[in-house]
Amino acid sequence: MIWNETMECMDREQMANIQGERLKETVSRVYHNVPFYRKKMQEMGIEPGDINGIEDITKLPFTTKQDLRENYPYGMFAVPKSEIIRLHASSGTTGKPTVIGHTRKDIDMFAENVARAICAAEGTRDDIVQVAYGYGLFTGGLGLHCGAEKLGATVVPISGGNTEKQITLMMDFGSTILACTPSYALHVGESLYEKGIKGNDTPLRIGIFGAEPWTDNMRAKIEEKLGIKAHNIYGLSEIMGPGVSCTCEKRDGMHIAEDHFYPEIIDPDTLKRLNAGDTGELVFTHITKEAMPLLRYRTRDISSLNYDKCDCGRTNVRMANVHGRSDDMLIIRGVNVFPSQIENVLLEMSEIEPHYMLIVEREGTLDVLRLMVEVQEQFFSDEIRELETLKKKIKNKIQSVLGISVDVKLVEPKTIERTEGKAKRVIDKRKN
Ligand code: ADP
Ligand code: ZN
Repeated sequence: MIWNETMECMDREQMANIQGERLKETVSRVYHNVPFYRKKMQEMGIEPGDINGIEDITKLPFTTKQDLRENYPYGMFAVPKSEIIRLHASSGTTGKPTVIGHTRKDIDMFAENVARAICAAEGTRDDIVQVAYGYGLFTGGLGLHCGAEKLGATVVPISGGNTEKQITLMMDFGSTILACTPSYALHVGESLYEKGIKGNDTPLRIGIFGAEPWTDNMRAKIEEKLGIKAHNIYGLSEIMGPGVSCTCEKRDGMHIAEDHFYPEIIDPDTLKRLNAGDTGELVFTHITKEAMPLLRYRTRDISSLNYDKCDCGRTNVRMANVHGRSDDMLIIRGVNVFPSQIENVLLEMSEIEPHYMLIVEREGTLDVLRLMVEVQEQFFSDEIRELETLKKKIKNKIQSVLGISVDVKLVEPKTIERTEGKAKRVIDKRKN
């Protein structure tokens, strides 16, 4: 089912017109209500009247997380505080959290977009949605919650953690959709396995996972353990939260709610806009947001855009799965590598459990990358030689695929800490 056929299947030209109109209104509103934007636009010599359509968006200034931090907490608000009905904050993965305000209309828009996302992920009002994202300042829990209610599905607002209870309630209530981070989904899957519950014995049919990067190989592992079809949901608190985009039944990219968030891809170094299909940094502009509209917000997430009509019937642009943020990229002796690339290589090996940790250190003037990875139990009962062989195999494979040398340490299952929320897989000691 398509939740909002008018907006999700619109003719591209008509969509561009709507986006243009909405952009004009937004620019005028921030110019008059947010001193930060007025000043920026004045410095650039532009006025709201210079924006006549969506193509003029490139005339506008960018906004960064740093700008939000400098205007902490309420400096970016475009409405009186009495209009604000909820505050959220980003998880603070990369530093001090940022505060985001929402008016009633913004919260309705949030619910609408998550309802669209759940439908794209093949959910219906007959589903029972176990929301195991954290509830609180983090947008995951409340976001999925409001969207599932809007759709008319049944919500189990259990929040993250307490895996035993997750499993009991899942089995007793007959939850058909699990919504959480992929790393937590994996953890739930492992706990089910330990209890002797096979994927197909759970009532689950769909997973709606996001809030952190995950690879196709990870997806396959999770699907097998939980006996589900797993969908990817993307979002960030500054723009809204989960539901900015989500995969549809085709799972060939995530459809963006582009009648609310206008996407662009830029080169993060030159800040030039790239062509459709090119990979670069994803940038969003709010075109309907009331409380705190952001112009050309730099997400730091690396993706690309596909404007082709999708076989599901939606015409909304699709973004490629995000495999990392530009700030996640590790530079190891001059070679650029994303942790997700290492994950992909690792998960192709059947001996390995999908839990790993990367530690980067500097020894003298050299970068050293250490990899801690869990291997299956049986290896630890085998001869040392087997372990040595496996270690070499991992090292060689990473060297040949990614061109970097890595120090491998094999550890027993469950050595690496499990998370309820976003997994932390990299410790870069060079930054201290
Ligand atoms: P923080 O930026 O502090 O982590 P958020 O909770 O707002 O705070 O997280 C948003 C970020 O999470 C995104 O910018 C992106 O890096 C990551 N993210 C969210 N959903 C996905 C997804 N499906 N795939 C990859 N990364 C994701
Ligand atoms: Zn589609």
